[in-house]
Amino acid sequence: MFHPYKLLTPGPLTTTDTVKREMLFDHCTWDDDYKRITQRIRKRLLALAHASEATHTAVLMQGSGTFGVEAVLTSVVGPEDKLLILANGAYGERMGDIARHAALPHTLLSFPLEHSPDPDRVAQALREDPTLTHVALVHSETTTGILNDLPTLARVIKEAGKTLIVDAMSSFAGVDIDVPTLGIDFIVSSANKCIQGVPGFSFVICDRRKLEASKGKARSLALDLYDQWKGMDKDGKWRFTSPTHAVLAFAKALDELDDEGGIPARAARYRANNRLLIRKLTDLGFRPLLAPAEQGPIITTFLYPEGHTFAFQEMYAYVKSRGYAIYPGKLLDADTFRLGNIGEIYEADILNVASILSDFLTDHPSEK
Ligand SMILES: *Cc1c(COP(=O)(O)O)cnc(C)c1O
Repeated sequence: MFHPYKLLTPGPLTTTDTVKREMLFDHCTWDDDYKRITQRIRKRLLALAHASEATHTAVLMQGSGTFGVEAVLTSVVGPEDKLLILANGAYGERMGDIARHAALPHTLLSFPLEHSPDPDRVAQALREDPTLTHVALVHSETTTGILNDLPTLARVIKEAGKTLIVDAMSSFAGVDIDVPTLGIDFIVSSANKCIQGVPGFSFVICDRRKLEASKGKARSLALDLYDQWKGMDKDGKWRFTSPTHAVLAFAKALDELDDEGGIPARAARYRANNRLLIRKLTDLGFRPLLAPAEQGPIITTFLYPEGHTFAFQEMYAYVKSRGYAIYPGKLLDADTFRLGNIGEIYEADILNVASILSDFLTDHPSEK
């Protein structure tokens, strides 16, 4: 029954066979070789973020990306602090959910899904409530595919002297982010997004002084970012069982990112995939939700053609049986679906899926 397909989703995504093959070995967790792999990963993540060990450090955390975001929010926002969350999609809303669950002092500022958060409104919110100490935002809001204007928002937030937390889950390594220059204090991503590893852990690149200052603030044992750092920083040993197979696969994925030419080359491939995808699907009658200036290079939300008669599930099954998994829309009233173009996805895949969708539309003509 198993029919292989590639993933046109925003993670987990299609990985190379060589990355998958790394997982055929059951590594011992307290072994020195294994601990060195962890330490090397942490160093390389800093380099990808343009950060130096003198000022920054990378902490790996078991679990999916949300565990990393929850670890940061619940570890660095203390009882005397107050967090401002900017939300223009499901992942911003999820940070609000995390804050509510942990009873963190916070305010959630909502923005329309189709636009990057308005920096003037952010500046105003920071002026009006001087008790705000931290601001959290999403870089690539996977809900729509928008790439929020991180440089402008970061400038406003740093000018106001606030600690900046960024969920860069679906953009880190797919879009170049100069973490120290932007003044990002904590940035979170995970193993199974643009670095093209498999699911199993998230990582946080932290400003050392800000991380030091969070000591004793964590509301959770397992997600205590400071304790995780202190444990791991000694010699690379994870506090609790580490996802060994995912870690080995990730180390290989980092090698393959280098082989491709680093972030500039990967970002260029993703951007080219994305442009071609939008051009091909627009020709078929699908319309991208976002204006080109706000569309990110990772995932695209498309509106169905005018007068269409099919349901997402029909299109999904049709495309899947021909070798690709596509993604439903999220949070929007309009009929939409999404296509990711990250992972081991190349021009030929984009042309394939466009041709499959063209056949599908021929079989399912719109009503005039
Ligand atoms: C993937 C993603 C997450 C994390 O989701 P998990 O399902 O926990 O891995 C968080 N934020 C954004 C923007 C994402 O794309």
